[in-house]
This record gives sequence, structure tokens and C-alpha cells, in this order.
Amino acid sequence: MKRQTLLFIVVVTATFLVMLVNPFMTQFSTAARSHHIQNRMKTPRGLSGISGNNHRLSSSSSSSSSSSTPTQSITSSNNNDKFVIINFDDSHESDYMYAKPILDKYGFKATFFEVCNWIEEGHHDKDVSITWQQIDALQQDGMDIEAHTMTHPNLNDLSQADLNYEIGQSKQCLDNHGFNPTIFAYPNGKGADNPEVVNTVAKYYNLARTDSKPSALTFLHCDGNSERQTDCRTSFSDGTLTPSNRYSINSWAHKHIEDGCSANDSSSSGGGGDDCSGVRHEYDNSQMFEKFVTAVNSQYGYNKDGIVRAIPIIVYHILVNYPDLSDSNRPIDTTLNLFDAEMKYLYDNGFKVITMSDLGYDENSQSLHIKGTYSYNTPGSNA
Ligand SMILES: [Zn+2]
Repeated sequence: MKRQTLLFIVVVTATFLVMLVNPFMTQFSTAARSHHIQNRMKTPRGLSGISGNNHRLSSSSSSSSSSSTPTQSITSSNNNDKFVIINFDDSHESDYMYAKPILDKYGFKATFFEVCNWIEEGHHDKDVSITWQQIDALQQDGMDIEAHTMTHPNLNDLSQADLNYEIGQSKQCLDNHGFNPTIFAYPNGKGADNPEVVNTVAKYYNLARTDSKPSALTFLHCDGNSERQTDCRTSFSDGTLTPSNRYSINSWAHKHIEDGCSANDSSSSGGGGDDCSGVRHEYDNSQMFEKFVTAVNSQYGYNKDGIVRAIPIIVYHILVNYPDLSDSNRPIDTTLNLFDAEMKYLYDNGFKVITMSDLGYDENSQSLHIKGTYSYNTPGSNA
């Protein structure tokens, strides 16, 4: 009898405690989640907004540490010919508020492709747009400002007059504001295989970027993707467009949600049929970090003995300040802590970060090259 009473008291107390704690927990996690979502919309907090949540990134630890401990073993330490080009597309305010402080922290420069009519005018997906003043500050900081049309249309759908407006006027628009773009990026990578589009681009620009290949690499002699090509000339002898040329520079869009085959699937499917339609891939921070590491190291094997043959180009869109990509259903989002960890990886592993405008085109050899005086052509250099 005494024992039963004791048991009863214990059960009642335990039940009471569970009831007390449970609503509190539920409320707490709901509040935490909505807090993260609100943060996305609020005025960015700058670098202090990067939380210590990148413990999920297996190999990269505290974001503010500048220690040079190697974080991955994929790259060999004697490969000093590692280049990367970082792009930001579509004129988001986060280019200035979020990307610039992190790039500055590591001393990196990036290329920003601007959509002229989106600047200061409000964005197509309701995100805050960058201002002319902010773009000017990016340029003052040594960043590279280039053109990405007037309104971001599918260029394959346009008349010649509209092509002239989207492609030619976007150069004029940036010129009018004190910028001097010589490189163009196709909206959603569409148009680089269309002769009318490419001919119009060639009237106004020196180079153009697309994203036609599953890899991140641009081959400087355009010889990496087609057995038919040994240089970057724009058309074959029969007049058809080459798949790789100065107006079809390849890149890899850093997107954490993908439809269809992922780059990793392409070997198993034997080359890009429709057998991956309906497949959806979603990656969290640590999975995207691994994809980034794979992309930037895909040049390994091509660049050696002081000769650079291939450069990965990574394209970001918008930086957001909640902890993990699994909180986001928008493919183009990249979390601040992930971007910081990726730049730290490049910094710690000795990658040279250059901009699109560091790429030049040589008419004689019909190939791309890195302008300037990089010391990469010293064979055997192990600095
Ligand atoms: Zn775009």
C-alpha cells in the first residue's frame, strides 16, 4: 500500500514535468526557426552574423581563424598552380553587404555580373537589389563589374532588336554609370549555342560566360570537352558554332537544389540522357562544401609544371544568414557560414583567386590566357 502510493506520486510528478517542458520546447524550436527566416529578410548583420554553425563542415572549423592548417588532403601541397574565379550574378544587395566583407577578409577579388534594370529597382524574386553606389564601392575595392543583360530574359526567345537591347544596351548602361564591362554572362546559361545570340554578343564583348558543361572547368585552349577542338575558335570549318569558345566560357553554378542528373551521376548514366528527369537533389551545408571542394580541385592533373590549362569558375547568387542550407528551399541560396568556409578553404590551400577580367584572349593562338605577371610559369617552383 505504501509502495503503491509512492509509485503513484512518482508517475504524477513525471507526467507533470513532461507536460510543463514539452510546450516550452516546441515553442522554442518554432521561435528559433522563424527567427532564422526573419533574419533572411532583415538588414544584414555583416560578419558578426556568421554563427559558429559550420561545425557541420567536417573539415573547416572556426570561421574567423586564419590558421593555415590544411583542411583537406585532396590537393597536393606541391601543386602551386591552383586558380579559381568567383562570380556573383543578378545584382543582389548581398553582393555588397555579405560577399564583400568575406572576400575582403581573405584578400580575394570576385566578378559581379549586373542586370542593369534590376539595380535599385527591386528584384524579380523580391530580394533587395544592389545600388549603383554599392557597385561603385565594389569597383573601388578592386572587384570586377561585368554585364548580365537589361532584364534577364531567355535570349533564345528574342528578336534581333531585342538582342541588341539586352546585350548591347546593358554594356551602354554600365558604361553610363562609370563601369566598363568587356565580359557578358548569358541569363541561365542560355544562348551560347545560338549563332544569332553569339554574333550579337561578339559585337559588344571580348568574352562571355555560360554553364553548359557538368564540370566547373574552363579549358584555356578549349580542348577539354570535345575531341574536335584544339583551340578556341568560334566556329568549325563548316560554319557551325564550336561548343567551347571565347563566348562559351564554362562555369559551375553553386546551387544546393538541383533537378535531373547531378554532375556525379553523369558517369553512371553514360552521358546525359533523360533518365534523370524527375530526380531532385538537395544538399545541406556540409554536402555543398564537399561539392565545392571537388569543383575547385577538378583542375588537379591539368595544371602542373607551371602551366595552367584549366580554371574552375564558381557562380554564386545570393548569400543568406541562416545556419544551414537545409533551412532553404531556394536553389540559389548560399549560407554565409558556408561561403566563409569555402573562401577559407581556398585561402588555407593556396588557391590564387582571380577575376574574369584577368582572362585575356590571344587572336594568334586562338586561346585564353591569364593576364599579368603571375609567377606560375616557373617549372618546379614549390613556394
Ligand atoms: Zn542570372
